[in-house]
Amino acid sequence: MDFGFKLSPSSAVNLDTVDHRRFDRLAQLVPDALTCIGCGSCSATCTASAWTGMSVRKVLLGLQRGQDAEVDKMLSGCMLCGKCTMVCPRGINTRQLILTLCRLDKKGEMVR
Ligand code: SF4
Ligand code: SF4
Repeated sequence: MDFGFKLSPSSAVNLDTVDHRRFDRLAQLVPDALTCIGCGSCSATCTASAWTGMSVRKVLLGLQRGQDAEVDKMLSGCMLCGKCTMVCPRGINTRQLILTLCRLDKKGEMVR
């Protein structure tokens, strides 16, 4: 019988098999990346968020989940205005974090 809906594919992430070399390298270069508490202040204040979906919080989560395509899409929307850096309660230099991340490929190698 057709009920008019389908089961959604699983969105589960197996953290044991995910490739998170890019996040590990970022954490080496910008150790503050490990202190994020996921409060979302950066996302709430982001100039580009409403149009591009950019969110430092989601970028950090996406990296740990191996979602590189989504991360790169968000990064391409960042204008490097630095507003997120001004509101982060952990004092993370999010702008520097973004700039560093843009220089790392999926394997965590420096590309530029
Ligand atoms: S404002 Fe800072 S602590 Fe909060 S989610 Fe963003 S980066 Fe993490
Ligand atoms: S630097 Fe990028 S992520 Fe931060 S508030 Fe500006 S546009 Fe958003």
